[in-house]
Amino acid sequence: MKKGMISSVILLIFMVGLSVADEWFTVKWVDDGDTIVLENNEKIRYIGINTPEIAHPDKSAEHYGPEAAKFNKKLVLSKKVRLEFENEKQDQYGRTLAYIFLEDGTMVNEKLVEQGYAHVLTGKSKGKYDSLLLKKQQAAMDAGKGMWKDWKETAGSYIGNSRSKRFHTQDCASGQQTGLKNRTAFSSLWNAFYEGFAPCKKCMPAERH
Ligand SMILES: [Zn+2]
Repeated sequence: MKKGMISSVILLIFMVGLSVADEWFTVKWVDDGDTIVLENNEKIRYIGINTPEIAHPDKSAEHYGPEAAKFNKKLVLSKKVRLEFENEKQDQYGRTLAYIFLEDGTMVNEKLVEQGYAHVLTGKSKGKYDSLLLKKQQAAMDAGKGMWKDWKETAGSYIGNSRSKRFHTQDCASGQQTGLKNRTAFSSLWNAFYEGFAPCKKCMPAERH
């Protein structure tokens, strides 16, 4: 009787362990710096960050796009990964939004930002790693890593929206609609990036997602 109870307890512990155990997937394809496909054909878009675009039939690659894709491939292709999510589970293209972790505990999203291959891209709601990712980005910018190396830009003037964490050109309609309360002025792209703002897709199409 006692023995039976002990085995029941052991079985219960085992079952609870299984239900909370992480699920691991093998990465079978790397699209670019921030998009991958798992063995079950699920397409994953890394959440919280954005990497420059690789070349497309109608458009040439952005600065550091191919490098970001190559770095991501080296990190995750054919590797086992685990996923973490936010409330916003999918983007408008049906891709799963996730933080990707390697078996050694490395968060791939963080690694890309840390090495200057990605900038932060805040989601619709606040993400659990937002401040960590921004800290890593600022360190990468200060150290001139990756895309931040030899940064060149002409002086400009941009409208930041502290709610959406996006910044716009002066003539962008979305930018102009920003309420005074949420409005921040930036005198350079660098400053906007440094504060954790990402370029608007409409007025700065060079930064597509
Ligand atoms: Zn805009």
